[in-house]
Amino acid sequence: MPFHSIAGHRRLRSLLARAIARGTLPPALLLAGPRGVGKRRTAAAIAEALNCLDARRSPELEIDACGVCAACKRIARGVHPDVLVVEPGDTGSIKIEQVRDVVDRAGFRPFEGRRRAVLIDEADAMAPAAQSALLKTLEEPPSATVFMLVSAMPDALLPTVRSRCPRLRFAPLSPDEVATTLMREHGYSEADARAAAAEAGGSLALALAAQSVDLADARAAAQRLLETAARVADPARRVELAKELTGKGAAGAAEREQLAVCLRSLSSLLRDIGILASRGDTQLLANADLEPVLARLGSTFTGARSASAFAAVDAALAALERNASPKVVADWLVLQL
Ligand SMILES: [Zn+2]
Repeated sequence: MPFHSIAGHRRLRSLLARAIARGTLPPALLLAGPRGVGKRRTAAAIAEALNCLDARRSPELEIDACGVCAACKRIARGVHPDVLVVEPGDTGSIKIEQVRDVVDRAGFRPFEGRRRAVLIDEADAMAPAAQSALLKTLEEPPSATVFMLVSAMPDALLPTVRSRCPRLRFAPLSPDEVATTLMREHGYSEADARAAAAEAGGSLALALAAQSVDLADARAAAQRLLETAARVADPARRVELAKELTGKGAAGAAEREQLAVCLRSLSSLLRDIGILASRGDTQLLANADLEPVLARLGSTFTGARSASAFAAVDAALAALERNASPKVVADWLVLQL
């Protein structure tokens, strides 16, 4: 995918294009920023711009890939011999052998392209030994290779690795950028795209993942949790409910996303309870259909308890964002309300 097809990050894209056009791209880069905003796509665009057989310039970009030549297509399919991708395996970590393999291959001249690109996705998943193996190469990079480390948690990398890689900071996308991409690339209607973008916090990946989540189920689980928490103190019975928050039978990314949507529903319900308790404008309710239930819950979730419930939901969302286990987060949360 060429630079011009990437949503948002206009300044970063033109900066990168200029560096590539002028031959000043550093041999190692750290693409850092929230999940799902286009870091890996941008790294692939760099690899394409470096190796495209028909690169061109536009008013905004000093150089950009064409996206349709044989080199661009092979990079997009992940089969270009000079574009090496490393990512976590089944264990969730990047092993030292994987890093050694690309470091060895990076030592040779590119086969076909002008410059070899090594893309390490979720670079923070490299074991410390793997990072050390990479460090030697980052200290004396082979001239025809650029290393791109992609990470949503860059501070989990060794300081010695970070210091070798200039950091490109990716900001969340704007709701408009998320909505436009959902319509253009994923066939969303405008109404669906705007609704999904409003919930996605600037992450295209979150907007797309939410599609697989049953929003009604998530809200119902959040509602049951608040109702149970209001009358049951027994930890064992509460932990039973935690299972509903992560979705029955869901696993992996789906489980994580189900819990995230559930937590956002909890926030929204708590906010509505607060509005009703303070006799605020019922027009402001996000869950107007649940008004009688929420009004009843207002007698339990008053002042301090409501504030601490809000804080717990926030902390749970933050833990999830840091890759904590959904099950552990859910078990913890049900005991905080
Ligand atoms: Zn091309």
